[in-house]
Amino acid sequence: MRFDVFTIFPGIFAGPLNESILKRAQEQGLVSIHLHNIRDWATDRHRSVDDEPYGGGPGMVMMAPPIVHAVEAILGPELEQTPVILLTPSGEVFNQDIARELAQYPRLALICGRYEGIDDRVRVILRARELSIGDYVLTGGELAAAVIIDVVSRLVPGVIDPESLAEESHTSGLLEYPQYTRPPVFRGLGVPDILLSGNHARIAEWRRQQALCRTRARRPDLLARAQLTEKDRRLLEG
Ligand code: SAM
Repeated sequence: MRFDVFTIFPGIFAGPLNESILKRAQEQGLVSIHLHNIRDWATDRHRSVDDEPYGGGPGMVMMAPPIVHAVEAILGPELEQTPVILLTPSGEVFNQDIARELAQYPRLALICGRYEGIDDRVRVILRARELSIGDYVLTGGELAAAVIIDVVSRLVPGVIDPESLAEESHTSGLLEYPQYTRPPVFRGLGVPDILLSGNHARIAEWRRQQALCRTRARRPDLLARAQLTEKDRRLLEG
């Protein structure tokens, strides 16, 4: 999976995407992240990429030409079949279903805004999909792009053990059950006996029940959409 990121602050990506699992995925050639500085497509001697908003108002708006030219130059004919994602707090809210959908493509382009945002003609010309990572406002799209790259990369075959993906929060439709590891007692708090029992059938049942109860308590909206078996309903009552 190849990610092409368009930004005026490529340095922001130096840290978070180059550690641990994502570092290994890049070393193994499963994921590659290509950073493109939008300023390289500016045409004046100040390398300007923003200007005042038409109609007045505070702040600056990122201009369409440098962004459109950058994306077209880097993607070339592949632009036709490559999803272009425009990060914006007014976009559709990113979630695991969208991540699964994006992970089907071999290449994604991500455009990071700054200032008051991006000239809307970029969205139209590049037929971009607008995505938000949540109902709050960041200073720029770079952290949002990093979140999307991280989430989608985990779904690329070979990056994560498929067994780890199967049960985790938002994959099964439920939040994950609580996890514990050594020591068995810490600050007077033990571990549920069932997890030390070695009875794998009962452990699986306990975990399912915990996942169901946790989801009901924290995210009833997810539980309402989850596909529940008769046994699940009994576990919820139990
Ligand atoms: N004036 C814009 C508005 O009210 O929608 C906010 C602009 S914000 C300060 C600058 C840039 O940060 C945006 O263009 C976008 O790329 C990025 N950004 C901010 N919040 C975001 C979010 N929740 N999800 C995705 N991108 C976000």
